[in-house]
Amino acid sequence: MQVEFICPRCGYHLAWALPEMEMKCPKCESWVSGKNRKKPELDLMLPLDDDQLTLF
Ligand SMILES: [Zn+2]
Repeated sequence: MQVEFICPRCGYHLAWALPEMEMKCPKCESWVSGKNRKKPELDLMLPLDDDQLTLF
């Protein structure tokens, strides 16, 4: 199952990937892993729905 990788430092949404993956945040260049990622409220395989996130 894939999880959503969110940078714990700047909150940037990186991608959906397996939790054992690691990727580098393009904004603040910190490494985000399955362990240190910031977890979204709903950690489920849901279709991407950014409507709620684009409201300022
Ligand atoms: Zn970042």
